[in-house]
Amino acid sequence: MVIPILLSALAMTAIVGVRYLIASAGFAFATRVRQPGLYAGQGRQIRREIGWSLASAAIYGVPAGIVAWGWRTHGWTRIYEDVGAYPLWWLPLSVFAFLAAHDTWFYWTHRWMHRPGPFRIAHAVHHASRPPTAWAAMSFHPWEALTGAVVIPSLVFLIPIHVAALGTVLAIMTIMGVTNHMGWELFPRSMVTGAAGRWLITASHHQRHHRDYGCNYGLYFRFWDRLCGTDRGLGDFGPTPRRGADPGRHAAGGEPVGTARPGG
Ligand SMILES: [Zn+2]
Ligand SMILES: [Zn+2]
Repeated sequence: MVIPILLSALAMTAIVGVRYLIASAGFAFATRVRQPGLYAGQGRQIRREIGWSLASAAIYGVPAGIVAWGWRTHGWTRIYEDVGAYPLWWLPLSVFAFLAAHDTWFYWTHRWMHRPGPFRIAHAVHHASRPPTAWAAMSFHPWEALTGAVVIPSLVFLIPIHVAALGTVLAIMTIMGVTNHMGWELFPRSMVTGAAGRWLITASHHQRHHRDYGCNYGLYFRFWDRLCGTDRGLGDFGPTPRRGADPGRHAAGGEPVGTARPGG
């Protein structure tokens, strides 16, 4: 029993690690094409981001591997494979339910990790990326990685989800995790500044969290930030103070979107 669980955890670690490398490499390449020189001089930071991210892959892989093993061998979880087992409208709704639940967990744990003690212990690693790159998607201290690693493996016990819908959730999680950190806006300006952008988080929103810290804590949706008064609007990809700068001294600014950081 121990060997199959171990193999499942190893397989999941490999899947999460390779998924990260492919997604981050893909968007880092897109960055070279669309914003040449944006990551210039950040080689050391990127190597550190990759190191922490691969360590996080192992931390994500263990609970995912145990649950995947339990699902295949003992029928654990509410993951289903027969698409007719629930009404069809549940497919998109289950994706939304997973994202909303993950977003809620992320908002409150993230906000808590911005208290001085937890920040120093768990969250400073993520904010050492100044400004973040496409490689920072999983750049977390192991303590922070642990808070993220338990989410999906717990939710599959609570919320019924088709295996393909779960794949969709994981794809959205991966793509948004990378693109929100890559330093430029992928989505059309009309969307980001329009009605959808008032509720959805993209790079313009999360960049501001990395620049100003005490705001914009959400993951996918601006719901909790808006409700709790922590939403400071969209960032502008202007120069982010590099490492060593005082994180507490950033004033709130306006809301320009889409202006690329000149040169890098
Ligand atoms: Zn943070
Ligand atoms: Zn971040």
